[in-house]
Amino acid sequence: MKEMKHVILISLLAMACTVAGARDGRSPADLVNPLTGTDSKFSLSNGNTYPAVALPWGMNAWTPQTGMMGDGWVYTYDADKIRGFKQTHQPSPWINDYGQFAIMPVTGMKIDQERRASWFSHKTEVARPYYYKVYLADHHVTAEMTPTERCALFRFVMPRTDSAIVVVDAFDRGSSARVEAGARRVTGYTTRNSGGVPENFKNYFVIEFSRPADFSSAWDDGKLVDGNAFTGNHAGVIVGFKCPDGDTIEARAASSFISIEQAILNLEQETGGKGFERVKDEARARWNDVLGRIEVQGEERQRETFYSCLYRSLLFPRAFHERDAAGDIVHYSPYNGQVLRGYLFTDTGFWDTFRCLFPLLNLVYPSVNARIQEGLLNAYKESGFLPEWASPGHRSCMIGNNSASVVSDAIVKGVTPPGIALELYQAMVATANSVHPRVRSVGREGVLDYNRLGYVPCDVGIRESAARTLEYAYDDWCISRAARVLGRPAEEIQLYELRGQNYRHVIDTGISLARGKNKDGTFQHPFNPFKWGDAFTEGNSWHYTWSVFHDARGLANLMGGNARFVDMLDSLFLLPPVFDASYYGGVIHEIREMQIVDMGNYAHGNQPVQHVIYLYNHAGVPWKAQHRVREVMDKLYSATPDGYCGDEDNGQTSAWYVFSALGFYPVCPASDEYVIGSPLFTSATVHLENGKKLRITARGNDPDSRYIQSARWNGKLHENNFLNHFDVSRGGSLEFKMGTTPDTRRGTASRNAPYSFTPNG
Ligand code: CA
Repeated sequence: MKEMKHVILISLLAMACTVAGARDGRSPADLVNPLTGTDSKFSLSNGNTYPAVALPWGMNAWTPQTGMMGDGWVYTYDADKIRGFKQTHQPSPWINDYGQFAIMPVTGMKIDQERRASWFSHKTEVARPYYYKVYLADHHVTAEMTPTERCALFRFVMPRTDSAIVVVDAFDRGSSARVEAGARRVTGYTTRNSGGVPENFKNYFVIEFSRPADFSSAWDDGKLVDGNAFTGNHAGVIVGFKCPDGDTIEARAASSFISIEQAILNLEQETGGKGFERVKDEARARWNDVLGRIEVQGEERQRETFYSCLYRSLLFPRAFHERDAAGDIVHYSPYNGQVLRGYLFTDTGFWDTFRCLFPLLNLVYPSVNARIQEGLLNAYKESGFLPEWASPGHRSCMIGNNSASVVSDAIVKGVTPPGIALELYQAMVATANSVHPRVRSVGREGVLDYNRLGYVPCDVGIRESAARTLEYAYDDWCISRAARVLGRPAEEIQLYELRGQNYRHVIDTGISLARGKNKDGTFQHPFNPFKWGDAFTEGNSWHYTWSVFHDARGLANLMGGNARFVDMLDSLFLLPPVFDASYYGGVIHEIREMQIVDMGNYAHGNQPVQHVIYLYNHAGVPWKAQHRVREVMDKLYSATPDGYCGDEDNGQTSAWYVFSALGFYPVCPASDEYVIGSPLFTSATVHLENGKKLRITARGNDPDSRYIQSARWNGKLHENNFLNHFDVSRGGSLEFKMGTTPDTRRGTASRNAPYSFTPNG
């Protein structure tokens, strides 16, 4: 019944959004530019994204492929040639792909990835979340594709030729491909992966063509072999058509991590009886439904950026589960290799996405995160640990134990299904007090020292120790918050609250900066606050000092009070972009991205600082946050190929823009507060899943009028620099009046400051 109500609600929302879309001309799905961020390279990331043709949280994405097989830069805007349309699960070039294979329409016998590659032009390209079209000049073929959650439909307009060929490339490192009897269906598998999978991992695929092939063959590493099937290091097939008058060849592709039979079932379930146009219409409607949960009114350019960011926020984590013949949700476990019941999601790194991507789900798409939480519990049951960076199983990447934030935020906000909240809490506590035997970034590396000394020492062979201490302390505070909500014993709550104060061990009060600490209690020496890495993670002391999400007041007190805290924040922007890259032996792209944007030592291109601007609100100078947050939105984001200022990172950097454009940001997930910034649009409406609406208006808003003159919540004057989650999620009206000069009186009292563990005032 609950399910039924939900379906009706979604349909009503979809209708409302269609109407809204029509009124404004282009619908949200058509305002998205999936090419945003694709003008990227190893040395400099403007997003490090690819145009994902997919459904929200879909199991598979499809992308035109310009890079060579195995190249993490799968589609780069400056490339000349497309060499395939790839099913991808890649979260980022640094993590690379798994279960990938490609399809490419060609004319003539051009099989391997170099020979089949075709020149193309962005002028012939149509890129939407739900549809992609391009003209492959060397083959005189127009290719189109449109996705479902686990499938894609292709349409290839072939020229007049007796040799129109679709190349299926299952890629190397162990694969299989077969043209089945009847010559209409191709099946196979790829085992390609980048780690995080058991020995038996396979992505099984099926491709069905609109008519039987006139000729076909298997191939081995680009060379034809006898027969229609090949299994080896690098398998593929060609499916050929004679098109004396030209022809349109359609193909339907699906895959499964479980079996060929399940792949065929997925194909039937999602595309059975549907043609290309219908699947495309449904995919567009799905995006408009999900994107349309937030409506914004403002400049076209800003709306394009907003919806392009919202699209990126909704691609990850990916579903890894499928629906079996009985209609039950099942998944192949990348943790233990078994096929098991229940949800599983993957392809997200919590070090990035705990910050605001998961809070965005909790506010706007809580039913989705409820399923993700079920999946997290399954991952714990299957591996003994909550994941930190899953793709598809545990990967060794980044630091922290920020699954605690993801799990707690959902418990605190009432998103977690009540029946599993306690089990998830226990999973969180277990994960927080151990370290994975093989994947050291899962659980807590250095946990024994941390629990004994209160910090991870910098001289015991554990890298990035101060960053770990800061994140573990926040994660402990997260656990205490969930413990409170679940009515755990007082001593348990107090233990994690106490550990939540462990950040104090690594703040050197003499210089107001975080610093590595030796096991004898002395600070690391020599110390360069501009040195990236070492005691910190992809950042320096100036960036990481602020990773006290839960206790800005406590941090300010350690620094000597608000004035010093604000000076330190100002300095971040006023310092020149100097850096010490010696830890990495060269300038990593994150450093370069800080250096070139003329914002001092502020490094919005990487995640550690993305909450920092909002901390001005904690120290009685909210207008400084309003100024900076708009500067970042205006200067560092656009719906263009160079539209990000660093790795986008699985929705996190995008969700920052989504929240910030609405006018508030979840500085401290697992608290129930949002911190107010400066709304970008004159009007925005969030259609909440409970049917309520959150309306945000900003009178007099324009690029120069970025300062809040007054705020009203449901008509009442609102002096606080924060909003409560439960107020906001019941719907209501938030009215701002904007002006060109800062109001230096509003929101300055200590009672107006957002949540801190240490009481304000
Ligand atoms: Ca990053």
